[in-house]
Amino acid sequence: MLKCPAMKDNLHFITFNKGEQIFKVGDHANCAYIVESGTLGVYPITKDDELIALLGKGELLGEMGILDKSNRSVSAFAETDLVLMIIDREQISNRLQNSDPIIRGVMEVLLRRIRNLLGDNTDNLSNDENNDKIVADGLHKIRFEKELFQALENDDIINVYQPMVSLKHGYIAGFEALSRWKHPEKGMVSPFEFITLAEESDLIVSMGIKIFDNACKQLAVFQKIRDKSKSAHPPLFMSINVSANQLTAKDFLLNIKQITLKHNINPKQIKIEITESLVVDYKKVKTWIDDCQKLGFKLSLDDFGTGYSGFQHLLELDFHTIKIDQAFTMSIDTNPKSMIMLEVITDMAKRLNMSIVAEGIEDIDCAKKLTSIGVDYGQGYYFFKPMLAEDLIETLS
Ligand code: C2E
Ligand code: CA
Ligand code: CA
Repeated sequence: MLKCPAMKDNLHFITFNKGEQIFKVGDHANCAYIVESGTLGVYPITKDDELIALLGKGELLGEMGILDKSNRSVSAFAETDLVLMIIDREQISNRLQNSDPIIRGVMEVLLRRIRNLLGDNTDNLSNDENNDKIVADGLHKIRFEKELFQALENDDIINVYQPMVSLKHGYIAGFEALSRWKHPEKGMVSPFEFITLAEESDLIVSMGIKIFDNACKQLAVFQKIRDKSKSAHPPLFMSINVSANQLTAKDFLLNIKQITLKHNINPKQIKIEITESLVVDYKKVKTWIDDCQKLGFKLSLDDFGTGYSGFQHLLELDFHTIKIDQAFTMSIDTNPKSMIMLEVITDMAKRLNMSIVAEGIEDIDCAKKLTSIGVDYGQGYYFFKPMLAEDLIETLS
């Protein structure tokens, strides 16, 4: 017999008399419970079986069926008069659905193990396929993360470089270092697939240092070639993407300072790109940015215009460069508002005495329009795709 929840203190509660069944093995699990008062007993099938557990005030019951959407694997009876608080399936399952696949996978494996120990032979076949997928996704992610660790050790995380061109004068002014994973089976893996993974673990810190080191080493090589060509262009710069957890990592500044010293690079030639969507504790980041600038590094605000906090970042923090997001550049021909916004952002950058870069330039018309409104540097497939360093040497001499 299904009991109706009774309202008490605006929360859903259900009461049972001593000896009543709360649920039986094989029942559909549509909710879990917290014991409010009284005691309940958990049994394999009937009350005549051996008691598995006695639960009292504050304890949780029936969560397994919700976690893996399977039927009850035990029966529960009120040992005394009992009040239970009802936990809706959604309160737990929504959170679980949004959680990391690794957590979900491990949870599913644990549940299977507990069910086996309980000798659960209820019919949960309807969920088997889905639950197998949860485990497979979790394990895939764990394996992928391990492979990423290995890749870093094997130097399979490499940098490609995309030139930034002076729009007014046409010469290569600098580069953005973009990482790639040279995967033995998958070929070149995009940073979209592995940077987030690296950010979730602390791997991003050691990976970031390696990317930084390679980029500085390469900048020294590029600069040497440029110097040989005896051109009168200003020193080349290198933009390097840095994630939030790198900024806050111990010794990050010290490490990057040492890297520039090692490769004989003036920190002024390095632009640290921080994405606009970075959620910041301004006080903390401000100290970091100030220290960074004291050492001579420049800061670039990436993907400007996409997040909700770009203007606040500009207000609170001192950036050297604004990098307008590709969304504006790419819609320059199709959406008349883009050009207006680009003009306004460029004007603002000039008035704030900042340098301005537009990325995602894919054709000559777009390059011309951006030049006409005074954008300093352009980056995009129209000029160059991200390339291996050796393929860029010629363009510099
Ligand atoms: P991002 O910093 O906004 O980098 C620009 C992305 O736009 C790059 O993608 C680049 O290849 C692509 N791109 C450049 N020009 C064009 C164009 O004309 N058309 C189109 N459609 N795309 C263009 P990529 O290399 O796949 O990098 C993706 C994102 O991954 C980067 O976005 C950056 O946020 C992140 N990332 C890349 N390397 C690193 C890294 O070393 N560290 C960190 N923390 N993040 C990185
Ligand atoms: Ca960037
Ligand atoms: Ca960007």
